[in-house]
Amino acid sequence: LSRDITAVEQAEAMRRDFVANVSHEIRTPLTVLAGFVETLQSLPLDEDERQRYLALMAAQSTRMQTLVSDLLTLSRLEGSPPVGSTDWVSVHLLMQQVAQEAQALSGHVTDGSGKPHAIRFEESEASDISGAHSELLSAMANLAGNAVRYTPPGGEIVVRWQSLPDGRGEYSVQDSGPGIAAEHIPRLTERFYRVDSSRSRETGGTGLGLAIVKHVAQRHGAELKIESIPGRGSTFSLVFPQGRIRQHGAI
Ligand code: ADP
Repeated sequence: LSRDITAVEQAEAMRRDFVANVSHEIRTPLTVLAGFVETLQSLPLDEDERQRYLALMAAQSTRMQTLVSDLLTLSRLEGSPPVGSTDWVSVHLLMQQVAQEAQALSGHVTDGSGKPHAIRFEESEASDISGAHSELLSAMANLAGNAVRYTPPGGEIVVRWQSLPDGRGEYSVQDSGPGIAAEHIPRLTERFYRVDSSRSRETGGTGLGLAIVKHVAQRHGAELKIESIPGRGSTFSLVFPQGRIRQHGAI
């Protein structure tokens, strides 16, 4: 009698990898934080230095909080029942909320170090999507947030909603950032996969954003498409099926 345990082995290996990754992601800021605590305890510092250390410590604890919050979001998405199709969410409202978040993030990321991004919002038609508001907002804002975080100050970003001729609806975020080499694209939605680790961490990334986007897409029957040309920019799109889109005509 023989039994194929390949899948069980693979799941176990994935679980081990995941735990190792989470531990590493938490240990790094924790080590930095512990170092600063020790410094504050052992060295007599003047007020300016003390404030500087405290600010650095606050940044590390924010990083851990963001990580925990993204991990909780992912596990909630995995554990919750399929999204119903009775609640309709206005795309216009979602776009307004994404705009607020993206503009705030742009101000924060460029923080006096350069021109803010030129972010444009375009909606071809007034539409609704059926699904969970908070999940849709989290996926859409994540894509816009990535465009802001990876595009150098002053770059151009276009966030677009389009109704496709066959009744599907497409949300897309196009940026003029560094782009992504083809070999990385299939792996971007893996948890903790990063092309540019330093830029990701510098701008508060957890490496979980696109994993969250992919989950939300799957739960809404949507497809996540990634197109990118290194040196020219990237376009991330979510294409929602016709059954989840309701159109109201031109704006
Ligand atoms: P992170 O928190 O690191 O941004 P994500 O899951 O959101 O994690 O993204 C995974 C990786 O994909 C990022 O680390 C980055 O290397 C790459 N990436 C995502 N969006 C963009 C973009 N708009 N332009 C260039 N690279 C991107």
